[in-house]
Amino acid sequence: MSPLDTNSHTAFVTARDAHTDVLIVGAGPTGLMLACELALAGIRPRLVERRTEPQRNSRALTLHPRSVELMDLRGLAPRFLTRGTTRPGWHFAGLETLLDFSALDSRHGYTLFLPQARTEALLAERARELGVEVERGYEGLGLTERADGVDVELRGPDGTVEAVRARYVVGCDGGRSFVREAAGIGFPGTDETLTGVLGDFAVCDAGPAVLADARRQGIIAAPLEGGLTRFVVVDPDRMRVPSREPVTMEEFRTSLLRICGTDYGIAEPRWLSRFGNATRLADRYRSQGPDAAAGRVLLAGDAAHIHFPAAGQGLNTGLQDAMNLGWKLAAELNGWAPQGLLDSYDAERRPVGRSVTENTAVQTLLMELILVPQYRGPGTALRGLLDELLGMADVNHRLAGQVSALSIAYPPAAPDADPLVGQRMPDIGLTAAGAEAVRAYELFHEGRFVLLGLTGDTGAAERAIAGRGARVTAVTAAEHEGHPALDGVREVLVRPDGHIAWATRTADETARHAERAAALAAWAGPADVPIGG
Ligand SMILES: Cc1cc2nc3c(=O)[nH]c(=O)nc-3n(C[C@H](O)[C@H](O)[C@H](O)COP(=O)(O)OP(=O)(O)OC[C@H]3O[C@@H](n4cnc5c(N)ncnc54)[C@H](O)[C@@H]3O)c2cc1C
Repeated sequence: MSPLDTNSHTAFVTARDAHTDVLIVGAGPTGLMLACELALAGIRPRLVERRTEPQRNSRALTLHPRSVELMDLRGLAPRFLTRGTTRPGWHFAGLETLLDFSALDSRHGYTLFLPQARTEALLAERARELGVEVERGYEGLGLTERADGVDVELRGPDGTVEAVRARYVVGCDGGRSFVREAAGIGFPGTDETLTGVLGDFAVCDAGPAVLADARRQGIIAAPLEGGLTRFVVVDPDRMRVPSREPVTMEEFRTSLLRICGTDYGIAEPRWLSRFGNATRLADRYRSQGPDAAAGRVLLAGDAAHIHFPAAGQGLNTGLQDAMNLGWKLAAELNGWAPQGLLDSYDAERRPVGRSVTENTAVQTLLMELILVPQYRGPGTALRGLLDELLGMADVNHRLAGQVSALSIAYPPAAPDADPLVGQRMPDIGLTAAGAEAVRAYELFHEGRFVLLGLTGDTGAAERAIAGRGARVTAVTAAEHEGHPALDGVREVLVRPDGHIAWATRTADETARHAERAAALAAWAGPADVPIGG
C-alpha cells in the first residue's frame, strides 16, 4: 500500500503544509528536546504528538547530572532548578550505598528531582519560545522512505489524513515506535520477565522519614508535587504478572502489607501503572535509505532503546540522544555538514544505548536475586558485598560516572588524537581580554561550536573562524581557571553539544594553525556556507 493512497483510508488526504525539513513524531522529552535543538540551529521542525493533552502523569522523576549540564549549556538550568529539588546521589539496583554524584567533576553533582510532566512542560515552553508548537492530536500512520525525502501519513485531530513530505523524519515516538517499525529497523532484545507497579496517591499517612526507610524493604517511596506520594513496588508474588494487566488498589495495598507490614494509609490513587523489564536496542539509529547509503529516518529516545527503569536513565539518555542529533541534523539541512557527520550520531549514541541496556539488565538481576526464594541467601550476600564495594570511592565514582552520564566520551576518529577528544568540556571559569568573567558553558547558549584559545594568544581563535562565524564562537581567554584535564592544552574546539572535537598542546604556532584548520574543516564544515545552505 502506498502511504499516499487515499483509498486506503476512509478520511481523505489533504496536502496542507505538505513539505517540511524535519518531521519529529512524538513530543515526549526526547522529541521536545530535539525540536529545541533544531530550532536553535535555524531549522523549524514539525513536532507532532498523538496525545491531545500534555501528559499529566510522570514516569520519570529525575534529571541526572549530565542532563542538567545540557540545560546549563543552553542557559536553561535556572528554570529547571527552580522547579525541582536536588539530591546528592541516586541508587544503583536499590543497593543501600548510594551513588555519590557530589564527588563527580561537575557543577551539577546531584540529581534533580523533577517529575517528567514538569520536564516536558519546561521543554515545550522553550520550544514555543523558539517558534515550535507541539501539534497535538496528530498520529503517524504510514511512512515510506524515498531517495530525496520521506512520505508520512498523519491522522489529524479531526480524523483527516494528511500526506507530509519531510526531508528527514525522527522517530521520538517511544518504545512501541511506529517510525522504527515502518522504517524496517530491527529492535532485538529480550521480552519482559519481571514487572513492578507504581502508584501515585493523594492520601498517605507516612512522613518523609518513614518513606525514606521503606527503601530497606526494596520499596521506593517519595513525596511528589501537589501533595501526592509515589510508591514503586516489585512484589515477589506479583512480579511475573504481565505489564499489560491493570493494577488495582487492592493489589497495591496487599503488596505493601505483605512486604512492609503496613499499607502506609494510602488512598485516593491518581495513577496506577505496571511496567516491565523488556530490554531492546534498535539495530540502527539511522535507516538505510532506498539507495542503501543515506537513510532519512532516525530514531532517538525510547524509540531506540528500552529497558527496566533502574537508576533513572531512560529519559536522561533520550535527552542526550537529542542533544547529539540536533546540531548534526541541522548541519546537514543547513548545507555545511562534513561527510559522515550525521552517521556519527549512530556511531556515538548506539554504544551508549547498549551500555544503558546492559547496566539496567544487571540491576534487574541484582534486584531479582533477593526476590526469588532460592537465590535470596547468596543474593543478599552478593548485594552486601557490592554495598561494601560501593563504599570505596573509586568504585562509587566509576559507577556514578556511568549512571550520571558524565563519563560518556565519544571515541575519536584519529588514533593519535589528544586524550581530551570526545570528552565533555569542563565548565571552567574564564575571562577574555576586556570582557567579563564567564563560565565556559555560557558560551554555548546559541548552540554553536566554541573555539577556545587558552594561551592568551590574542585574536588567534577569532581570526581562525573567518567564514564560519555563524557556526563557531571564538574566544581567547586572557585568564582561565585551572583544570587537570586542561593542563598544557593551548586550544580546544568544542562541539555544540559540549564534547571536545579537537584539542592541541603544541607550542609550534605553524603546526597549531594547520591542526586547527583541519579540525574546523572536519567538524564545522567549509567556510562561507550561508545559513540554510
Ligand atoms: C516506572 C518508570 C519510571 C521511570 N523513571 C525514570 C527516571 O527516573 N529517570 C529517567 O531518566 N527515566 C525514567 N523512566 C523512563 C522514561 O520515562 C522514558 O525513558 C522517557 O519517557 C522516554 O522519553 P521519549 O520521549 O523517548 O518517549 P516517550 O516519553 O514514550 O514519548 C513518546 C511520545 O510519542 C507519542 N507517540 C507515540 N506514537 C505516536 C504516533 N504514531 N504518532 C504521534 N505520536 C506518537 C506518545 O504519545 C508520546 O508522547 C521511567 C520509566 C518508567 C516506566
